[in-house]
Amino acid sequence: MKHRVLEYKHALKLSGSGGLRSAEDRVAGPLTVAIMLVWHVAVMFLGIGATEALAKGPIRVVASINDLASIAAEVGGGQVEVQAVARPNTDVHRVEVLPSYMVRVSRADLYLMVGLGLDGWADQIIDGSRNNHLVILDCGRGITPLDRPTGKVDASMGDVHPDGNPHYWLDPRNGAIVAGEIAEALGRLDPANSERYRQRAAELQRKAEALLAEKKTSVAAMPVRVIFTYHSSWVYLGAAFGLEIAASVEPVPGIPPTAGHLQKLIGIAKERNVSVLLQEPYFSDEAGSFLAREAGVRVVKASASCDEPAAGSWLQHIGSVLERILAAEN
Ligand SMILES: [Zn+2]
Repeated sequence: MKHRVLEYKHALKLSGSGGLRSAEDRVAGPLTVAIMLVWHVAVMFLGIGATEALAKGPIRVVASINDLASIAAEVGGGQVEVQAVARPNTDVHRVEVLPSYMVRVSRADLYLMVGLGLDGWADQIIDGSRNNHLVILDCGRGITPLDRPTGKVDASMGDVHPDGNPHYWLDPRNGAIVAGEIAEALGRLDPANSERYRQRAAELQRKAEALLAEKKTSVAAMPVRVIFTYHSSWVYLGAAFGLEIAASVEPVPGIPPTAGHLQKLIGIAKERNVSVLLQEPYFSDEAGSFLAREAGVRVVKASASCDEPAAGSWLQHIGSVLERILAAEN
């Protein structure tokens, strides 16, 4: 599936905030129009309107994924109420847009997108929410993307992201960058507490650095620091902690493996002593069972996102994935 990239007629320019824009500047596509019809019915039933989003109280934040929501919960503290859209155990590339998501966003003040083409489905939710006051932060704007294709992107490359690999939140340093951007966005919505947001972002940045240093040391002590992954979701994790990803089960992103490709992986596993395959729970067990049988590879099943949109979950999840890789290698 190709990721939809929306064009904006005139992106709202806010000085010093490249990732911020207003929902009013968006262009609706034909699919969005169909979804909006469903939304109209939802509004009639629930008797709510976009203007209610102005009601005072905590800043309402909706994020595409739990990881961004968790960072926002930590930076926002008691001043925010945070929710996420995608469930952590499902494929984040393919989220079904439901009217209930639009209702949720219709009451929000801030939407946090992953960006880099991962959550094109969020555009439909935002358009359908008809929330003119919504501030949208593209959290991927400040990230230096890995795996950026150099030439022209075509179908033979699979589900490749033209702007680079979008799974950046698995590097603690990238989450720290996002924390800073969220602090700035919250500070604009609530200037009275802007210093608090900045301080909490700085605190989270310190925690991220501490986890990075601690786990890097553990990884460096592993006899073999080479793993397989199923999808290319873990390149930032590997790069941050010193784990080399020898190959992916998917020959190109989003394309299931062929017998020939799996045979190639057996060769790599034997040659380089690869003993771990890191795989999201929603992929088939077939390839993992084959690699286990033929080359003794152990499958570590882990979601690429944390379980809860709560403060602390994001870093805890990264730490626990690494613990499980370390346990499987030893
Ligand atoms: Zn992907």
